[in-house]
Amino acid sequence: SSSEPQYDLVVIGSGPGGYVASIKAAQLGLKTACVERNATYGGTCLNVGCIPSKALLHNSHLYYMAHDGEFKRRGIQFDDISLNLPVLMKQKDDAVKSLTSGVAYLFKSNKVTGIRGHGSVSGAGQVVVTKEDGTNEILKAKNILIAVGSEVTPFPGIDIDEETIVSSTGALSLNQVPKKMVVIGAGVIGLELGSVWSRLGAEVTCVEFLSHIGGIGIDMDVSNAFQKLLTKQGLKFKLDTKVIGAEKTDGGIRVKVEGATGGNNEILDCNTLLVCIGRRPYTKDLGLNSVDIKLNSRGRIDVDKNFQTSCKGIYAIGDCIQGPMLAHKAEDEGIICVENIATGRKPHIDYNCVPNVIYTHPEVAWIGKSEEQLKQEGVKYRIGKFPMSANSRAKTVNEIDGFVKVLSNDRTDRILGVHIINSVAGELVNEIALAMEYGASCEDLSRICHAHPTWSESLKEAHLQAYFGKAINF
Ligand code: FAD
Ligand code: NAD
Repeated sequence: SSSEPQYDLVVIGSGPGGYVASIKAAQLGLKTACVERNATYGGTCLNVGCIPSKALLHNSHLYYMAHDGEFKRRGIQFDDISLNLPVLMKQKDDAVKSLTSGVAYLFKSNKVTGIRGHGSVSGAGQVVVTKEDGTNEILKAKNILIAVGSEVTPFPGIDIDEETIVSSTGALSLNQVPKKMVVIGAGVIGLELGSVWSRLGAEVTCVEFLSHIGGIGIDMDVSNAFQKLLTKQGLKFKLDTKVIGAEKTDGGIRVKVEGATGGNNEILDCNTLLVCIGRRPYTKDLGLNSVDIKLNSRGRIDVDKNFQTSCKGIYAIGDCIQGPMLAHKAEDEGIICVENIATGRKPHIDYNCVPNVIYTHPEVAWIGKSEEQLKQEGVKYRIGKFPMSANSRAKTVNEIDGFVKVLSNDRTDRILGVHIINSVAGELVNEIALAMEYGASCEDLSRICHAHPTWSESLKEAHLQAYFGKAINF
């Protein structure tokens, strides 16, 4: 009948949370539409986040190796190294384009209806889409999934113009290498994009309120080693320091800073200022009032274990709810949420097993608890630590910076947290995710055959050290 809803599920937002949920829902037989206000699918991650930043990180690293003499030290000689920034940017843009159009293709092949426009909830089971030409379309849905993601947290009093005062979005598309760049916040974005521009030739200073780099949750051993390595690469850090304002002048930007607890006033001059002090949920004009959904004190949407909001049939996932703002976390929530809607099954996520990666060089990755967290919780733990300088593969290719640090339960030998800093930490951490999901002990991991010579053997050795007290090669 005409009162029957057109869709089983309408998803608002096509980021990694929303697009993955849409595809999975369609695969499970739900008639699904995905509403996206942006011209391309893929959300923050594909358009202005994970994907473009990793393209720039990779190529700026190659440039740095060439420029800094690293290739020469390896017997690869050439003269006249120069940077063609437009070509470097084009490779990034091509990567973004092929992945965002890949989502459009997947929507077609899985029979997800993509609808361009701004979606807002206008009652239980109803979404209004405002199109670019100003017209409205009303979608009736049995279920609604809010996957609207996040936006840059503004810095009060500092206007982002995305040219000289930029957020991560502008910093992914600068049309020249700034002479001097100041970064507010030495968290994930500050370190990744600070590295990019430092490698390409900018003098980069990161101002950080906390007394360590890498943000919340990083293990202090890793953070300290990481800071030393990045400093060696040319980045400068002003820790325990807060920015209090910035003003544009004829020659550039003057950034006013002071000690975290006051005093030590200083002016930092720069050509580009990057503001990256975190992100906040993007819930503008979403119509939540119409269904009486309230935001919590952090501006996020509260959900239950099945990702259902306070309104029946309306769900939310990803950056706009609690938890780390990570693409893989949003994806997994999307899958679980629609599986529950479609099948009634109740799979769950162990948030303790969600990996964190910072894609600098070396990479930093961790999962589970840090040493500081275990101390705070009063858990008795053992440490297994293995330096990359003792890993044969790392030695072979002369990338010996960093280590693997394992924290295990002193009594049960169970893996509680693993902290990695080395060239391929972001890949290695997934092995630990698997081990922890299966409740592995350090002995388990140290008895599993690892191919030689590989970076992964450093994991085996660190776990051996944690459980037996001694590694073989160190
Ligand atoms: P989003 O990706 O933000 O997608 C939300 C989508 O909803 C957007 O397309 C938006 O246009 C749309 N939308 C919002 N409101 C409406 C509406 N009312 N109607 C219609 N459409 C709407 N995470 C990682 O895991 N690894 C990384 O390497 C990484 N790198 C990053 C680098 C940068 C520079 C940034 C900024 C972020 C990075 N992140 C990374 C974080 C990651 O991008 C986010 O965690 C992830 O995109 C969240 O997914 P989401 O689906 O919740 O939201
Ligand atoms: P962040 O929370 O990682 O770091 C922000 C940093 O800014 C913190 O260390 C904070 O102490 C500092 N800060 C805040 N106010 C300050 C002030 N006034 N002066 C000086 N320092 C100040 O946030 P981000 O780097 O903006 O990244 C945003 C989100 O995007 C993160 O939640 C992250 O999960 C996600 N992201 C992930 C990746 C990845 O997984 N590789 C990459 C980029 C972004």
